[in-house]
Amino acid sequence: MRRLLFAANWKMHLGPEEARAYLKAFRSRYNRREDRDVWFFPPAVSIEAAAQATRERADLQVGVQDIYWEPKGAYTGAVSAPLALQAGARATLIGHSERRHVFGETDADTRRKVAAALAAGLVPILCVGETLVERDAGHTLTVVMRQLAAAIGGTEGTPLSRLVVAYEPVWAIGTGRNATPADASAVHREIRAWLASRLGGGAAQPRVLYGGSVNLKNCAELLAEPELDGVLVGGASLDPEGWAQLVQTSAP
Ligand code: PEP
Repeated sequence: MRRLLFAANWKMHLGPEEARAYLKAFRSRYNRREDRDVWFFPPAVSIEAAAQATRERADLQVGVQDIYWEPKGAYTGAVSAPLALQAGARATLIGHSERRHVFGETDADTRRKVAAALAAGLVPILCVGETLVERDAGHTLTVVMRQLAAAIGGTEGTPLSRLVVAYEPVWAIGTGRNATPADASAVHREIRAWLASRLGGGAAQPRVLYGGSVNLKNCAELLAEPELDGVLVGGASLDPEGWAQLVQTSAP
């Protein structure tokens, strides 16, 4: 059975106190469902508070929004995978479009970060996706495959079953404009085929999420596509009641 993953990217919102209040509200509204996991990605300063507020629930996990690939050292402002783990993170986003397009993160950086996450025992959620210009030029699959190959190509032998891939078209993030279920599904199918050809079809395959303006209105329709193993959500995850409703009611 497909185990759905609902990942909430809080971006630069919700400090430790707000994170505690959010999770209290979320837990009071969310009736646990056995077929789904809910992961929260708070800002690094709120990881510990969020991890404490979810600690006795295996279905609720906390992650970090970004890591630096070195484990420790003179890297002012950076957070490493072992440090995030120590604070309570169990996963990390890697290559989110805001990291790539606001902070200039490269494909080579994502490769180092995936390796660092796996070495530390964090689940990497590798984000890939094309810009509007690339989409309009018909380059969606070329871009997505390039990003996948750069981050994890040539790593055969590395246990990647814990990897998660999030297809997030850049033009759909925070814009209110989501990919249609059919469009998302078509790209997911190609991602899955690429992963199976690299990792071997027999191995447990990474989950593939969709992200980009997912909300209460469109989530069920997107998840009705069997190619989608879950969603990565920014804006619509910031309200704990709405997020609880979205996670709970989006049944395929
Ligand atoms: C995201 O931050 O990964 C995201 C998909 O944001 P939004 O849901 O706001 O488009």
